[in-house]
Amino acid sequence: MENIRLDFEKTEGLIPAIVQDAESKQVLMLGYMNEEALEKTKSTGRVTFFSRSKGRLWTKGETSGNFLNVKKVLVDCDRDTLLVYVDPVGPVCHTGADTCFAEENSSKTFFIDTLRKTIKDRKNNPSDSSYTASLFAKGINKVAQKVGEEAVEIVIESKDDNKELFLGEAADLLFHYLVLLEAKGYELDEVMEVLMSRHKG
Ligand SMILES: [Zn+2]
Repeated sequence: MENIRLDFEKTEGLIPAIVQDAESKQVLMLGYMNEEALEKTKSTGRVTFFSRSKGRLWTKGETSGNFLNVKKVLVDCDRDTLLVYVDPVGPVCHTGADTCFAEENSSKTFFIDTLRKTIKDRKNNPSDSSYTASLFAKGINKVAQKVGEEAVEIVIESKDDNKELFLGEAADLLFHYLVLLEAKGYELDEVMEVLMSRHKG
């Protein structure tokens, strides 16, 4: 976080900090930080609030071990609210729930975005040891052929009842499908747009 001056005066010393999972984008909790709590959050890399009930700095997870590891801190347009992106260690709420709003934070579909970015990076910054980079190097025919092969393999596995093998082929197909999109220079978002335009609620 750059050294943007926060408007602590407007909020009488305490600034609300919205805590969000950096990967799933799930809102996890809300807490308050004074200047000292924000400093400690930045210097330790673990979210520290000023606890109004305890009347002191409180590092989330200091007793439970369920720390919130800081990924990024953003300041809002009025400089009086923080958005803290974290990687949570374990459930966030003292009740044992994933979030303080009793929501689940278990969706793993967000990982497709990480994968997509990694594939793009392998294309733009190829290394000899990367399988993905080697696919791009072989050209579009090879990439398309791989998608075809993986499609056939999942068809074959779908006729059996081996969960592990089927999921393995499903992962292979999805991965090579993403590589094909990247090789063609299209974004997954563009495919989503097509699907959304077809989706009638
Ligand atoms: Zn809670």
